[in-house]
Amino acid sequence: MLGRKNKMKDYGENEVYLFEKPYTTINGEGQHIGKPAVFIRFQGCTVGCKWCDAMGTWPKSRGKMRYGICMTNKELTEYLDEHCEHTPRLWITGGEPTEHAEEIWSFIKYYKKYGNRERIWHMITAGKEFDVKLMYELDYITIDIKPPSSGADTPPEFISWCMEDQQLKEKVEFKMVVSATAEDITFARYTIDTLRQFHRDITLQPLYWSESEARKEQDIGQTVKNLKLYEQEFSKPSNWKSYGEFAEEFMDTVSYDHVRVLPQLHKIYWPGVLSGI
Ligand code: SF4
Repeated sequence: MLGRKNKMKDYGENEVYLFEKPYTTINGEGQHIGKPAVFIRFQGCTVGCKWCDAMGTWPKSRGKMRYGICMTNKELTEYLDEHCEHTPRLWITGGEPTEHAEEIWSFIKYYKKYGNRERIWHMITAGKEFDVKLMYELDYITIDIKPPSSGADTPPEFISWCMEDQQLKEKVEFKMVVSATAEDITFARYTIDTLRQFHRDITLQPLYWSESEARKEQDIGQTVKNLKLYEQEFSKPSNWKSYGEFAEEFMDTVSYDHVRVLPQLHKIYWPGVLSGI
């Protein structure tokens, strides 16, 4: 039987706080779009994007209690091996995962020792915290560059580090959600040019719907399940009128092999769904 000291060393009793139980889905963002992935959605985010589509992850605590579904590393490992055993890619998201870096790192170490199968460790982050230990432990990292319309930002020093660090270079990709505002389009073009100098890929995806807007609609008695809502959303100034309009805006990047112009796939497959996708 393990003594207390050894148990702590194995991280099995360490806890993580999730927004919802992990689930298998089709990834809708970045270079790995369309690939099956298990989403592990951490609870807690202080980035505060105006058009966040996961606002339920924002609160970190409820009074003195930590918010979210609490699982020990051991419980989460067993859950993944029982319910998500056939999908190797684990997509670590939030919330903002780097705000939970120590928890995530200890879970990865535990799973690598006790989990039943080889996993692909993939995190998406806005780069709120720099955690070298966690970043080096991962297999892939999607850097979510926040444009002006988000009201937030991805620290430029974080982006530079990810572009230049030898250990990160090969496993990092960049993506950006772009609204139909002049500021976002200018920022996207600037980012494309910057990344091109470093031979780094970027995926551009259109903003066309957000949870906060859906809530406003719900407040006036409408439902996000009504597809007509989406037609209304297309006419809002910051959103694109159509996917075609978005594609046309970036057609002049056709000579840039490092740019992908794609819709967010999950918003096509599951429009209006706020969790479990
Ligand atoms: S980083 Fe993600 S979860 Fe946090 S506010 Fe922005 S979109 Fe929402």
